[in-house]
Amino acid sequence: MIIAIPRETVPGERRVALVAESVKRLVGKKHEVVVESGAGQGAECSDEEFRAVGARIESSAEAVYAAADVLLKIQPPDAAEVERLKADSVLVSLAYPMSNPKLAKEIARRKVTLLATDMIPRTTLAQMMDVLSSQATIAGYRAVLLAAEGLPRLFPMLMTAAGTIPPAKVLVLGAGVAGLQAIATARRLGAVVEAYDVRKVVKEQVESLGARFVNIDIEDAAGSGGYAKELSDEAKRKQAEVLATHVAKSDAVITTALVPGRRAPVLLPADMVRRMKSGSVVVDIAAEQGGNCELTRPGERYRTETGVTVIGERNLPSQLAVHASAMYSRNMEKLLGHVTDKDGVLKLDVSDEIVKGMLITRGGDVVHPAVADVAM
Ligand code: NAD
Repeated sequence: MIIAIPRETVPGERRVALVAESVKRLVGKKHEVVVESGAGQGAECSDEEFRAVGARIESSAEAVYAAADVLLKIQPPDAAEVERLKADSVLVSLAYPMSNPKLAKEIARRKVTLLATDMIPRTTLAQMMDVLSSQATIAGYRAVLLAAEGLPRLFPMLMTAAGTIPPAKVLVLGAGVAGLQAIATARRLGAVVEAYDVRKVVKEQVESLGARFVNIDIEDAAGSGGYAKELSDEAKRKQAEVLATHVAKSDAVITTALVPGRRAPVLLPADMVRRMKSGSVVVDIAAEQGGNCELTRPGERYRTETGVTVIGERNLPSQLAVHASAMYSRNMEKLLGHVTDKDGVLKLDVSDEIVKGMLITRGGDVVHPAVADVAM
């Protein structure tokens, strides 16, 4: 099987879908790996390193797409990339087909099989292939570093001859994969951390990381697949009332709250941010999905007129491209192992839960029932 790795073309994207370590193992399993020249550059993986582990380097994207039995990507393909896809090849990539069914239809039109990495079921079996988790882990870590850097004060408590410095107070909103990593990272840097999530089941995990869980007396919003549901208006009002006091006393607020298929919930309205101390920081990991903070400007970092730095940078995993790529690459290796037989031949078993969740297009059609519904 020929596995092809093109260079990512989205501006600012530094990650690559396979790193040399994975290429070596895949070549060891008798796969051929074709890599576009420069594909690994942003992740510190040179053409020479890829070549040394048995990859073939191609200088043009066209040659890489034309060679592919399976094309591994990170960012969803743009229009030019869709046109390059080879009929009957398999594309494994982020694709967000529920919010972008048009792309799924275009890929189907090209007679390409799409396995959307963002549609992987969040189950124990799928954990090792779960790119949402691996990349959210990186985003949670990076968000805390951005907060620490943006804050004009220290994170840890210090007792020095020059006086005692109190620890920074950090509030994490949303305690999924990114939020839990943010809590752990802020704790490691010495901050006092509070966290809140609408899924009460995470309270124990928050506390096990040494943070305090903010209890709000509203309905539990755990939905299907472990994801959150949208709150009722009354619950939103109550939530805002309690959160306002916690936000006001925090030096840094890191927001990570998402609801599948919807715009990110607004947890920090403008007036709440205005009540934060001058010099405090908001890092909005949900910026790409519209933001949890009303004042977030996606892709930007700025200081509000009341002195709060609001950071809405996009694609935090790409800022740590070496490890983000290494983790994505491991996820891809495990996924390829899951969908190939002992001879390395691709076998997509639609009765398999993981394949069923990720398989969006096949044989010229959108075959995923939920995506087909929204694509109508
Ligand atoms: P996510 O990125 O969809 O959302 C982040 C967090 O925001 C979630 O914890 C969610 O409950 C929270 N949230 C949503 N609306 C909120 C609001 N109004 N206020 C406060 N918080 C709000 O979540 P995720 O990190 O992708 O995790 C989703 C689920 O998948 C979780 O249940 C997680 O435990 C589960 N998961 C399972 C596995 C596995 O078993 N393989 C792997 C990863 C994640």
